[in-house]
Amino acid sequence: MSDHPSEPTSGPGNPRDTAAGASPSKGSPPASRHDPPQDDEAKTKPSLNFIEQIIVDDLQSGRFDRVHTRFPPEPNGYLHIGHAKSIVLNFTLAEKFNGLCNLRFDDTNPTKEEEEYVRAIKEDVRWLGFDWEDREFYASDYFEQLYEWAVLLIKKGKAYVCDLSPEEIREYRGTLTEPGKDSPYRNRSVEENLDLFERMRRGEFPDGSRTLRAKIDMRSPNLNLRDPVMYRVLHARHHRTGDRWCIYPTYDFTHGQSDSIEGITHSICTLEFENHRPLYDWYLDQLEIYHPRQIEFARLNLTYTVMSKRILLELVREKHVDGWDDPRMPTICGLRRRGYTPEAIRNFCATIGVAKFDSTIDMVVLENAIREDLNRRAPRVMGVLRPLKVVIENYPEDRVEELEAINNPEDPSAGRRKVPFSRELYIERDDFREDPPKKFYRLAPGREVRLRYAYFIRCEQVIKDEQTGEVIELRCSYDPATLGGKAPDGRKVKGTIHWVSAPHALRAEVRLYDHLFSKPNPLDVPDGGSYLDYLNPNSLEVLPDCPVEPSLSQAQPGDRYQFERLGYFCVDTRDSAPGKPVFNRVVTLRDTWAKIERQQKGNARR
Ligand code: ATP
Ligand code: MG
Repeated sequence: MSDHPSEPTSGPGNPRDTAAGASPSKGSPPASRHDPPQDDEAKTKPSLNFIEQIIVDDLQSGRFDRVHTRFPPEPNGYLHIGHAKSIVLNFTLAEKFNGLCNLRFDDTNPTKEEEEYVRAIKEDVRWLGFDWEDREFYASDYFEQLYEWAVLLIKKGKAYVCDLSPEEIREYRGTLTEPGKDSPYRNRSVEENLDLFERMRRGEFPDGSRTLRAKIDMRSPNLNLRDPVMYRVLHARHHRTGDRWCIYPTYDFTHGQSDSIEGITHSICTLEFENHRPLYDWYLDQLEIYHPRQIEFARLNLTYTVMSKRILLELVREKHVDGWDDPRMPTICGLRRRGYTPEAIRNFCATIGVAKFDSTIDMVVLENAIREDLNRRAPRVMGVLRPLKVVIENYPEDRVEELEAINNPEDPSAGRRKVPFSRELYIERDDFREDPPKKFYRLAPGREVRLRYAYFIRCEQVIKDEQTGEVIELRCSYDPATLGGKAPDGRKVKGTIHWVSAPHALRAEVRLYDHLFSKPNPLDVPDGGSYLDYLNPNSLEVLPDCPVEPSLSQAQPGDRYQFERLGYFCVDTRDSAPGKPVFNRVVTLRDTWAKIERQQKGNARR
């Protein structure tokens, strides 16, 4: 905790100075479709990222004369901050090159997908500030077309119906070091295949009994090309097509063709699809249809959290967190409820840039993005998390002064407000030490401290609970000549602390959050262990009754504030009631973990 209110509020260093590969910020649109993005500051800007460079080259070479990207979520969970990276990338690329970006739901798996996720995904993309206009597509809208294409491949002798069970298919596939074996059904006649595939569609066969497979090469070094499954029998209701289908195309047979149907020019996906690219190419070549260019980039990983939808779903289902929008979750809705702004998330995505190699970004970088944003825009208020009562003995009992406080030193237009001051106050317990260590410049017996926007006070007497010995109240005196923070005789105090007038205080619940996991990479688990072993038991601390300044009675759900010297807080959108706000701590003023580490290093040196 800082001893002076004017201490800089952002963490050590600006992440933008250190992060490599930062992409240029949004500039004015290029003069023509074929030009690279540029604006007046072009000279001072970092160079294009590798994806932008590919696009520029494609436009110059004439391979494409326009840019059309898409964000293709599978509606089987809520979006997380990793998806935000992909959303920002796809939509801003389209923006920069005067192109378009589609929202496409890759909904090929009826058993895991739900309407609820579709709704939530749209809300999140919109909240991040992006607009897909009328280009909301669903892979399931292409099911009929995909079926026709499958028939075409059968007719070309490039696909066959296979009766191997899923386990047998796996066995026959071979390994990275061993070639696969041909399926005994590989050489069925075109007529037989057409007949069987049609009967698969009609529902004559049980789940898992038959598949349609591409006839490529069981000896290919790329396992994805070893006769991959195109269709499986699955008698399941689909959230959009209902019971119309009982066979469903695989993701791999759907994704590339969906891009092709939509006229996507640059199909941007994460690195794990690099090995699938030859398969997508094979389908497009065999079908002789329009061919987008696929570009792979590294997915975002963040320390102290996880980015897997499967694990996030598990955390929700097993109630390790309080829903998808639990403010500790790395989901977009969790970050939103926590108090993150879309601007901070977009800046974060721009800061980390795009790369071709997997890496893990420190959570501090994300936290710094929201600190920086809220430092600019959040009004300052005073609130006390762990109150200690102070009685100013020489202050008249019935007197109340309305003292003037600055709403935001970063933004003079935010103006000033009045804060009531009276004889009884609360200060932060941490701001008093009976036996102060060296360099502790706050309150201690006989010592003087400055109350923010008010007076110097001196601690005259410490009152303790008779039984427990706990300090329960401080008796202080104030110096009326020090209003505004200066003493006429020139004497100095080093510390300034925040306070709230006791009779005027509004009572709020405050929720303090810490990392969801206690380990930087919670998926790095020894044999027999589980990522659950690393759930941080202290990731949530609830302070049910915190005195905060009365101006906060006006606070609306979603409003964000800086509690002076403590951090940024956001009024919870779910649990706040009129007159009884709940505040989520968005982030501390500085990175306390880094601070603790620094202290530990310091101690080790001593
Ligand atoms: P899973 O958790 O099952 O691997 P997914 O995260 O790939 O699923 P999708 O809905 O398929 O979920 O993702 C939609 C898009 O977001 C894809 O283009 C995917 O590449 C991208 N994406 C997903 N996770 C990340 C991430 N961590 N960083 C960057 N992009 C991501
Ligand atoms: Mg995926």
